[in-house]
Amino acid sequence: MSTFSDHDMAPDHDVTIVGGGPVGLAAALALDAAGLSVSVLERAPGAVWAEPSFDGREIALTYHARALLERLGAWRHIPESVICPLNEARIETGRGNHPLIFEADRPAGIREAPLGWLVSNNMIRRALYAEAAERSGITLLPDVTVETVRQDTATAVVHCQGAQPRRMRTRLVIAADGRFSPTRRRAGIGAVIHDFERMMMVCRMAHDLPHHNVALQWFAEGQTIALLPVNGHASSLVLTLPPAEIQRLMHIEQDAFNAEVMERVGNRLGAMRLVSTRHAYPLKCVYAHRFAARRLALLGDAAVGMHPITAHGFNLGLRGAEVLAAEVAVAFSRGQDIGSAAVLHRFEKKHRAATMPLFAATNGIATLYTHDAAPFRLLRSLGLRVADALPPLKSAVTGMLMDRSPAA
Ligand SMILES: Cc1cc2nc3c(=O)[nH]c(=O)nc-3n(C[C@H](O)[C@H](O)[C@H](O)COP(=O)(O)OP(=O)(O)OC[C@H]3O[C@@H](n4cnc5c(N)ncnc54)[C@H](O)[C@@H]3O)c2cc1C
Repeated sequence: MSTFSDHDMAPDHDVTIVGGGPVGLAAALALDAAGLSVSVLERAPGAVWAEPSFDGREIALTYHARALLERLGAWRHIPESVICPLNEARIETGRGNHPLIFEADRPAGIREAPLGWLVSNNMIRRALYAEAAERSGITLLPDVTVETVRQDTATAVVHCQGAQPRRMRTRLVIAADGRFSPTRRRAGIGAVIHDFERMMMVCRMAHDLPHHNVALQWFAEGQTIALLPVNGHASSLVLTLPPAEIQRLMHIEQDAFNAEVMERVGNRLGAMRLVSTRHAYPLKCVYAHRFAARRLALLGDAAVGMHPITAHGFNLGLRGAEVLAAEVAVAFSRGQDIGSAAVLHRFEKKHRAATMPLFAATNGIATLYTHDAAPFRLLRSLGLRVADALPPLKSAVTGMLMDRSPAA
């Protein structure tokens, strides 16, 4: 009978990824491109995994994220008709107050460059899955729930439950199983979890007036609202409120819902009609104490689960996948151990440096905009004026939103 300390047993795959969400699939594609064999274990059934349904999220993609999705081969699976260029982002503290406007930082000679692109999460997931399914080096295993991961000096063994319980031996396990990652918890890695005690409701609304590809976000007493453009006369409504209010809005009848939304958005886009399912997300942000353990790396929301206000969770998740794959590829090409502590340490150091400042800044902004006491209201208004009056600050934020740094 084999034991977990059988050092000489060949691994089933070089890397095993727990969680086939967008970041897990992106990591699989990056590792496959470097010549490694990869398995991806996903608890959802195969049909749901391949064709995920609309989940309300519209993901704002930076230039860097788009370039990476192109390089990974996933972008070609996203139909042009569902990619919405974002020309401007406008932030307000209330109607009539001074808005802060972000426009693309256009290189000389380029007049039409957008600030970024909006694509719905399910279309991104679908595209990544379609590309992964075409790669012979990637084994996609649906309907599988990972129960335990055991590490020894040379390999790790993943035990799974599902239609066919199995155990798989690998050199490196990647936990990409979301912000409440069971794999992170079982590895004994703690996390800073910040509960904003708010929920976010997202859905698609058709409207009579054009949005001009402008994203609007404003802060009124007791609520934060964003309207994100999607192609056609439609926008994604993103409404942040206390949980009880969101629960009520999730269930009220459609005409009453439309009327309430129009009132909440101040009739900015004319008559509005709900044209999708409604989805609610609790606002809990997560930052793992460590991004690595023995033969284990954390990626995506399992490592850093951002507040959506700065639209960077997936962008940062993609970056983490890129950094980890690059470190693993170097070790692999040199015939070294791809799951060694040295490889994981280099990944952790780089990914922490890339994510910590943005995570802290995002939480600061989110806190400022979810409290309505007078000092917070004053700070909000002042914050927008100061940011507008300081071109270097505004340009730094624009640079962060667009992220034009080349994909590695
Ligand atoms: C409303 C909203 C708006 C957002 N907007 C933006 C935006 O504009 N820009 C941006 O960059 N980001 C945005 N984000 C964040 C982005 O959606 C997430 O960062 C991203 O989806 C995280 O991907 P992931 O693959 O790490 O995790 P997930 O998408 O959570 O995927 C985890 C996967 O793991 C699987 N799984 C879990 N446990 C197990 C197990 N034990 N065994 C097997 N499989 C398992 C799950 O089924 C799931 O498929 C937004 C988020 C929200 C909620």
